[in-house]
Amino acid sequence: MINKQVTTIIIKLGKNDNLNSTVSTYNKICQEIINYGFENHTFNKNKLHYGTYKLIREKYPRFSSAMVQTARDHASDMLKSLKFKVKPIKKEYSSIRYDKRCLSVMFDKKKISINTMFGRLKLPLNVADYYLKYKDWKYTNAQLIRRKYKNYFLNLQMEQSPVEKQKEIKVLGIDVGIKNIATLSNNIFFNSKKLRNIKGKYQKQKSDLQSKGTKSSKRKLKLISGKENRFVKNVNHIISKQIVNLPYTLFAMENIKHIKTKRLNKTMRKNIGNWSFRKLMSFLEYKAERLGKSVIYINPRYTSQECSHCGFTDKNNRNNNLFHCNECGYELHADLNASRNIARIGISDFVQGAVNHPNVA
Ligand SMILES: [Zn+2]
Repeated sequence: MINKQVTTIIIKLGKNDNLNSTVSTYNKICQEIINYGFENHTFNKNKLHYGTYKLIREKYPRFSSAMVQTARDHASDMLKSLKFKVKPIKKEYSSIRYDKRCLSVMFDKKKISINTMFGRLKLPLNVADYYLKYKDWKYTNAQLIRRKYKNYFLNLQMEQSPVEKQKEIKVLGIDVGIKNIATLSNNIFFNSKKLRNIKGKYQKQKSDLQSKGTKSSKRKLKLISGKENRFVKNVNHIISKQIVNLPYTLFAMENIKHIKTKRLNKTMRKNIGNWSFRKLMSFLEYKAERLGKSVIYINPRYTSQECSHCGFTDKNNRNNNLFHCNECGYELHADLNASRNIARIGISDFVQGAVNHPNVA
């Protein structure tokens, strides 16, 4: 449901003697740590560290502590993947890893700063202006690769930064309820009045037939129930279609489990009958997915008591349909206030990568 924006970029650095010796020394160090781990049957990073670190720093004083640690993690992963069946072999010029301590990539300045055996090396970044769009992204993994004719390449796995991501997301909060089937944070209300009238009509017909109890009345009852179900389904289709087509990329809703217990009083529940919020949610979800949009479910927490303007939370803030903040005096429709809180929590959860699955089952 959550699309993390990621991409891989390959940048040509060209030939460089400094990188030649750095790569071959890194691989030598990595192999020494592998040998130690293989002999001692361990890929535990701490154990590898205590067994090799001091010796390696003495033997390769030009190598920074951060680079040795990266080589150690690399060795650990290789040992782990081969499960001690065979000893991993690090070739002289096989690719090496970099992390933020040892490599900075600056797309806006078109240069990189990379740690080598001979100190920090600044190299020009020969990339098109197109790459400027990655200036606020971060790389999560980086490998320095030597290819044909001793040409070096940087392989970067990039991830969009959370701040950048949030700028691109347009969130719509949806508060579902009885009086208003759905209230959207952009001030759109889906009133349930008509729906309740029609459902009431079906309810009446059904109870009349039930009291008869004859064979033909049972058959008619079945027919009406079917009609009613199709009607509800149709309303859900129409509402969900209208919502997903609005110019938003993320739709935030409260988790269904809480809605049931939260706002349905007995008379309302009777009026609404088998009105299905679950259906609305599942329709919304698959229609959104088709458009490459997302739905996130949040915990309701205090969405109906919190002021969407100043954050003051108090159960006396809400008086039926009216929300009046006892702190800042802000006033608006209570469902609208809730939907705005839902939008705010939704985008924050989304950016943090929280995955709240709906309780549709
Ligand atoms: Zn307030």
